[in-house]
Amino acid sequence: MVSSAEPKSNQVATAGMPTLERMFDCVLRTDLAGEIAYVSPRGRDWLEKISRTSMPDNLCQLFQLADQGRIAAQLHSEEERSLGTLQSADGADVPVAMRRMKLIDGKQFLFCLLETPGPGLAGGGSHRDDLTALPTRPAIVLEIDRRLGRSETFWFALFNIDKFRLINESFGVAVADALLVEAAKRLKAIMPADTWLGRLGADEFACLWGGSEAELQQHLDEVLLEFARPFVIDGKRLYMCATIGVSSSTDGQSPGAGSLLANADTALIAAKASGGSCWKRYAERRAGLDYSLVSAIYNGIENGEFFLVYQPQFGIDGRLYGAEALMRWSSYDRGFVSPGQFIPVAEQFGIISFLGRWALRVACHHLKQILPSHPGFLMSVNVAASQFGAPDFADQVMAAVQEADVPPSSLVLEITESTLMHNSERTEAALASLRAAGIRFSIDDFGTGFSSLAYLTRFPVYAIKIDKSFIDPVGSGEAAPDRLVQAMINLAHSIDLKVVAEGVETETQRQFLALSHCDILQGYLTGRPIAFDQLLNLDVR
Ligand code: C2E
Ligand code: CA
Ligand code: CA
Repeated sequence: MVSSAEPKSNQVATAGMPTLERMFDCVLRTDLAGEIAYVSPRGRDWLEKISRTSMPDNLCQLFQLADQGRIAAQLHSEEERSLGTLQSADGADVPVAMRRMKLIDGKQFLFCLLETPGPGLAGGGSHRDDLTALPTRPAIVLEIDRRLGRSETFWFALFNIDKFRLINESFGVAVADALLVEAAKRLKAIMPADTWLGRLGADEFACLWGGSEAELQQHLDEVLLEFARPFVIDGKRLYMCATIGVSSSTDGQSPGAGSLLANADTALIAAKASGGSCWKRYAERRAGLDYSLVSAIYNGIENGEFFLVYQPQFGIDGRLYGAEALMRWSSYDRGFVSPGQFIPVAEQFGIISFLGRWALRVACHHLKQILPSHPGFLMSVNVAASQFGAPDFADQVMAAVQEADVPPSSLVLEITESTLMHNSERTEAALASLRAAGIRFSIDDFGTGFSSLAYLTRFPVYAIKIDKSFIDPVGSGEAAPDRLVQAMINLAHSIDLKVVAEGVETETQRQFLALSHCDILQGYLTGRPIAFDQLLNLDVR
């Protein structure tokens, strides 16, 4: 039995913090008195290296005596940002910037710590990367703070090289290193002359520069084009792409280096989730809401507030064909939150892989229960593009199938065109191995993306789902929408794909689709999403 509250707290906290954990040296969760309930694994290593003692119980004890009173006072103040110096084993000062967020339950804080350069490092001498001779993170943080201090307006961009690890693994460290040096050169050559460049991580560069929104667009488009040209290293032609996340010094009310970094990283993750090889500007309005929704989602998972409903799908002959599993969230604090609201946030923050895995398991268990009364029933489950980013995605799916003991061919994974279009080797490999195991795939929201047919033949998919926006105008009296839907159906049939029409609401639409030989109907006309028990007891043939 899979309980809906399956994920437990510690696991949730780790799974839930990819952005924060990557951007900050340490992420801690405490109660309102500062008693530590959770420390990010990376943060634990970092703190232990500094203090060489076991983790204290209270956040304040991490800091030098002189700071403890002030940090304790901050727990009870409105102040969300502070600076302090950590206790260290060798007596050296370890200055940190700290950011505090209250979690949705109002009973816990999340603290994010970032080591900042001490005054002696202002020259940045020792904070240079040996390989590219670029400044590294402490100097980057310092440069951001210096500009903010002068009230400069500037862009901050994170350039991440896609699939860098693959290059490292396939060609070796020397080639990968040479590639990084070359990438830094190209960046310097394309970006405006006064751009300040640093290296943030293995495959990540940071850029600071000024200019208008239009110039930003022009520069970053040029960078992407330039990176698409092959890199010739050691006589080898290497192809790689970059993904870019951008924030601005004007984002938010009280910007600091930490928030600029975190905002750019949020944008970077969103850009990666949309397929990569593109750039995205941090969307402030949305992100303002994001943090609170993110912690609310964790709490929701812990409290078992998520569940699945099922929208029946019927063959054109009226037989029950299968159902699409749709996620629902009935939040204790916020009431009903629609998937349109929480799925994009979950995707942006990497929680979707976690929620998605849970949905797969629950749907497979329900599938097992419905198969005896409805042999041949197909269970469709939505899969977000970013779920394919998990190296073990195929294993997760197969584990869910095996655990529930259902035939793989009864499971349909709904993916979008963009998942296929921006396919990485990883996505392609996962699709191929799942397909080989018998799992079916359908193309969700068909017609809204690239709708290039090349990929449909390249990846053997089972069905297309014509998007509701194409079905809506059907039967309105105009000929064009009808002809378009008819053409899609013919085309899919010509390459042996089944066709599902989504969002069928009227009898006129049903009749037209029947005449057009559409195979499967899904919509409010034939059935709204319902609880599993209702689906099981549906009075149909
Ligand atoms: P989708 O995959 O396109 O799902 C179909 C949506 O259309 C559902 O909305 C469904 O309730 C709605 N719908 C179906 N028939 C009709 C109709 O006749 N009229 C109207 N007006 N609407 C109809 P829902 O449940 O709000 O889901 C919205 C989106 O959220 C889904 O779009 C899907 O992209 C995402 N989503 C939902 N559950 C999951 C999940 O488990 N995983 C992932 N990755 N995404 C999910
Ligand atoms: Ca869907
Ligand atoms: Ca859809």
